[in-house]
Amino acid sequence: MIPVISKLPQTGTTIFTVMSALANEVGAINLSQGFPDYDCSPQLIELVNKAMQNGHNQYAPMPGLMALREQIAIKTEKLYGAVYDPELEITVTAGGTQAIFTAISAVIHPNDEVIIFEPAYDCYAPAIKLMGGVVKSLELEPPNYRIAWDMVKRLINNKTKMIILNSPHNPTATILTKEDIDELSALVKNQDILILSDEVYEHLIYDGQTHHSMARYPELQQRSFIVSSFGKTFHATGWKMGYCLAPAYLMQEFRKIHQFLVFSVNAPIQHAIAEYLKDENTYLSLPDFFQEKRDYFRKGLEQTRFELLPCSGSYFQSVAYDNVTDEKDTDFAVRLTMETGVAAIPVSAFYRKGIDRHILRFCFAKRQETLDKAVDRLTKV
Ligand code: GLN
Repeated sequence: MIPVISKLPQTGTTIFTVMSALANEVGAINLSQGFPDYDCSPQLIELVNKAMQNGHNQYAPMPGLMALREQIAIKTEKLYGAVYDPELEITVTAGGTQAIFTAISAVIHPNDEVIIFEPAYDCYAPAIKLMGGVVKSLELEPPNYRIAWDMVKRLINNKTKMIILNSPHNPTATILTKEDIDELSALVKNQDILILSDEVYEHLIYDGQTHHSMARYPELQQRSFIVSSFGKTFHATGWKMGYCLAPAYLMQEFRKIHQFLVFSVNAPIQHAIAEYLKDENTYLSLPDFFQEKRDYFRKGLEQTRFELLPCSGSYFQSVAYDNVTDEKDTDFAVRLTMETGVAAIPVSAFYRKGIDRHILRFCFAKRQETLDKAVDRLTKV
């Protein structure tokens, strides 16, 4: 063996891969990794088929198919009132994770500080560290996980390069409010701080609430990379398709990395989505679609000994299990998968220090019968 110095010595395999593998191995209902157990629209599949048959099987342009970028621009302006130039400010990516990695690597230099809020999606910190950046995290408190902006202010100094936001939030299912936006705006005003806004669950927002995209606020939009996901929006996580929005000066740097990371992404699927996006109902119907699942699943869980945390967005429902056991969440998640036959994600995986508040995350992007079966098993716990 040739000696190799690990660049990420503390990093193991992501919890999503670990829990899905265990669920498959023992035949458990998999409510761990976030993906639907129903298929995407047959019309969308037909469009992909058509694109392949029409010979769209060679490289797409490096930043993405223009027809798709134009549709993304239309959607963004319609929803958030922001005008993005498809030529210079929109790039189609191989999913949200690639967009996040690319944005971080495009602008973070050694010793730059990046503020994240924990629990945090697990791909942020490793990307920051790989670039030599320093992760500054602020821990949020269950059950509401509100951001204490005065604490954020204390983390800011002249090395602070970026703040990473995620709304609707994975895993906590909270959303940014207008008050958060006001606090954030005041905080970054006249500071050279960029924002990376992970908005992959932008359409999964409930009870008539508003998604406060950075794109809605010109002074924030001007400093933001915004990441979206067609996998989440169109129930096709396996297609690994997403996009990034950013003002031209940031997108120019983003593309310098993107071109050597993936060059360009799946061409026929871009053709298909460009067509499919023309019907705004394909995404405007999502809040109702998922809210019904959320309500159904929550109602079921009320019959169990788990305590429900609030869920304003995303397709995740967290539960506290102090009434059930005092095991570590990682141990309990494994036992629940093996003995009860329902796989969940232990929320400690979203903290760099593995902080364990005895909370599990379930994904409810599932057929009703799957949710029924899962609840049935969970009532026996
Ligand atoms: N975003 C998904 C989740 O939180 C997982 C995606 C992945 O496994 N990379 O479950």
